[in-house]
Amino acid sequence: MYDTMKLEICSLLYIIILQCIYFVKRKYNFVESKIYKVLLLLTTFLLVSDISAIYFSYKYGIDNIIPPIFIRIYFISLIIWSMLYLAYILVNKLKDKNNYDSIISLIKNKKILTSIYILTLITLIIVSLFIPFNYSLSPFVIEGDMLLYIYIIATITTMILLLSLVINSKHITIEKNFMVLISILLYFASFILQATIPSTPIISSAFCLVTIFIYFTFENPDLKYIDELNDLRNKAESANNAKTDFLASVSHEIRTPLNAIIGLSESIPTDELPASIAEDIKNINGAGNILLEIVNNILDITKVEEGKMTLNNSPYSLADIISELTSLVNVTISEKPIKFIVESKGNIPSKLIGDEVKVHQVLLNILSNACKYTKKGTITLSIDSRINGNKCNLTFKVIDTGIGIKKSDYDKIFQKFERLDQGQKNIEGTGLGLVITKELLNLMGGKISFESVYQQGTTFTINFEQEIADRTLITNIAALEPKKNILDEHFDGSQYNILLVDDNLLNLKVAEKILKSYNFKITVAKSGLECLNLTKNNKYDLIFLDHMMPEMDGIQTLYNLKNRASGFDTPVVVLTANAIEGSKEKYLKEGFKDYLSKPISQKELDRILREQLHIE
Ligand code: ADP
Repeated sequence: MYDTMKLEICSLLYIIILQCIYFVKRKYNFVESKIYKVLLLLTTFLLVSDISAIYFSYKYGIDNIIPPIFIRIYFISLIIWSMLYLAYILVNKLKDKNNYDSIISLIKNKKILTSIYILTLITLIIVSLFIPFNYSLSPFVIEGDMLLYIYIIATITTMILLLSLVINSKHITIEKNFMVLISILLYFASFILQATIPSTPIISSAFCLVTIFIYFTFENPDLKYIDELNDLRNKAESANNAKTDFLASVSHEIRTPLNAIIGLSESIPTDELPASIAEDIKNINGAGNILLEIVNNILDITKVEEGKMTLNNSPYSLADIISELTSLVNVTISEKPIKFIVESKGNIPSKLIGDEVKVHQVLLNILSNACKYTKKGTITLSIDSRINGNKCNLTFKVIDTGIGIKKSDYDKIFQKFERLDQGQKNIEGTGLGLVITKELLNLMGGKISFESVYQQGTTFTINFEQEIADRTLITNIAALEPKKNILDEHFDGSQYNILLVDDNLLNLKVAEKILKSYNFKITVAKSGLECLNLTKNNKYDLIFLDHMMPEMDGIQTLYNLKNRASGFDTPVVVLTANAIEGSKEKYLKEGFKDYLSKPISQKELDRILREQLHIE
């Protein structure tokens, strides 16, 4: 007797342990998990009824009334188990096809489906109450119509499951399909084995195996937890992508009118205008630039949050940056009683390797804060350089005699959107500058710190290391002449033909006005097609091409130009309001010679013109 029950008893022990583990862990309220819970309990019941049937058959003999009751209970449990298993696999598979909510609605709305299912189950149970069977002992073997009935139910269940596997397979991962297939095969194999070896009761142990298999592949709450986390991560990622797309398009839309505001106000000659009008134009330009700074800061902070901020390292001249910043600071403080002083200690290599744009941005942020928050006195930029092997360790201090920072506000300084309430309500800012500066320095492996005495002044200290590209030393960087404003010395471009392509007339007007100061011969085109036609019969020295144009966009236009049978060698520069991280690289990859973002920076424009037209 015990030999016959060995397998069942072991399975029972195992399933009890599994139940303990399962019910102790956090459970999920998913439909399939609820079905699994019942399946797990039913497996225990199935094993108990199987063991009881064998035990009572041996104990009371085949003529007693008790053993057949347990055998029938065992058969009914088998049927309910099979039907629950069917429901479990179908719901589990559906879950991947749609999402969880849709299964709930599917089950709630499709009452007919559920009713059919319950009716079938009840009918099967009722029929099983009347189908005859007989059994014998030593060995314990059950025979008769009941067995055939069970085999038919198992075969139909297996067919439906295999069909469902084929129908939805596209929406489900290969691994999951494979796991489901294994569990179906295990389920069906138990019946085949039972039919082949009738003397060994196998089915209930095999069902126990299927239940355990499902636990380890789908129902382990830890796995569910990982699934849930993955789900949440995917949702968060797609929400983040939507935010980036939104920001990209908003920034594009804001940049286009800003291009007109900044570009046009900059190109109006104010010398002969009444002072009040000249002042208004200057204020319009100033407001446009502040708005541009805000847009740029918001784009930067998004890049930082997405971890998309990267360094583009190349050789650069720190002396150039310092002299440019000196001119900028002098212009900014020109109307305040402030003296700007540059001091330097140690020799600075003439070329360092690093991200020039970011070094410039970091120093500019700190210096412009000093200008903003200082009413009178001095702003000092002190540079300390120490050469160590092929590295140069740089420490910059920006010391101002401004409004200072209260001790109680120290914690807020590097927090997003945090602006201190210390009589600075009329000073523009977003509270993002220092957060971005800190992130940029982190990226460069550098540090930022500050000391301040309220109402007396603040010192910001920045430290980072750069590799040395050229060891020629600049002995006194502070004594260098500030860079001349390149805009004061435009080269004469009267011998060059420039083609401007943009669907936005205002943008064309702005670019034309800015370029006119070089005396170029300028032609404008309002679409990609017009550009293609014009370039067929005319030779241009340089083309500025907008990206986002209806019908044929800038990239398609460039593609058509380059695929001309006659060959095409005019440099094409993209002129776009698309300024999110990676835009420049994307356009260069498409085949543009350079990238100019809107609003047009005159300095950047000058650099591109000189490079593309080979002007020294
Ligand atoms: P904002 O755009 O407001 O200048 P920042 O992130 O650059 O944003 O600076 C955050 C806050 O730190 C500022 O609003 C200001 O209150 C304070 N702060 C920054 N630099 C200085 C400084 N040199 N002197 C006094 N306060 C400063």
